[in-house]
Amino acid sequence: MILLDGKIARAHYSSLLEKRIKELSFVPCLVILQVGNRTDSNSYIKAKKSFAQKVGVKEIHINFPEDVGQEELIEAVKKYNQDESVNGIIIQLPLPPQINSEIVLNLIDPKKDIDGLNCATKFLPATARGIRELIKFYKIELAGKKVTVLGRSKLVGEPVAEMCHEEGALVTICHSKTENTPQKAQDADILIVAVGKPNLVGREYVKEGQVVIDVGITRHSEGQLVGDVNFNEVKDIVHMITPVPGGVGQMTVLALFENLIDACYSNKNN
Ligand code: NAP
Repeated sequence: MILLDGKIARAHYSSLLEKRIKELSFVPCLVILQVGNRTDSNSYIKAKKSFAQKVGVKEIHINFPEDVGQEELIEAVKKYNQDESVNGIIIQLPLPPQINSEIVLNLIDPKKDIDGLNCATKFLPATARGIRELIKFYKIELAGKKVTVLGRSKLVGEPVAEMCHEEGALVTICHSKTENTPQKAQDADILIVAVGKPNLVGREYVKEGQVVIDVGITRHSEGQLVGDVNFNEVKDIVHMITPVPGGVGQMTVLALFENLIDACYSNKNN
């Protein structure tokens, strides 16, 4: 079994990214808008801020109270859309129920929507781009391969499936209502799992020679991160597999910053 190590792939792409950042005549700036104080959001933001610091990106983190009104958040988006020193804006999801995520996300200037969640976006959502980078790093071919994606969310499953389709794969999408999901998973050359159910995927979902990419991240009460794939049960069957932690999550943060630096270059005023 070959471990698809996100840390190694990220280190490789990070050095390329740092080089691109140094070649700019300005310091890229990312704005992170957060509402409330969810533990998972805090840890994702911490990872983004620490990566920003490492590669030389300025970040502005605005943390609104849990009960902030939608108008106040919209005003912040408009302010940073107009601020030419800001190259990327992200709104940490999920948002509390008084805020319509779709309305607010669609107000981000598409040139600054580095999360790729706005309907006019110019960017591939970070998880999909991160998976594409990881696959490329390990020289896995997508074109002509059978790919099964478990999960069809707007944030993860759907853009990942679209990316694989764009790369020439034959894509099957499974969701909560799909029948015979284990069989459809087993039939794939590449299985990508983005469900959010810890250890869902056991031996009955996989086969020899398969590549398994686990997007799922669930934090156990003791703080430990668990994937959707039962790693120990399938690791001796499949050909390649991502660990959790240390797999796709590493690549998602990297891809977000790749989108940011693409935004800097395409609107270059340097
Ligand atoms: P989500 O919005 O809850 O969507 C889950 C999807 O899984 C839905 O489409 C659902 O189907 C489908 N599903 C549920 N049970 C299933 C089953 N037994 N077989 C096949 N599909 C099933 O979750 P999400 O936002 O997409 O996130 C998925 C996971 O990825 C979570 O663990 C999240 O933490 C993780 N994540 C990781 C990263 C990373 O960088 N590694 C980034 C983002 C998210 P229906 O549509 O029919 O309900």
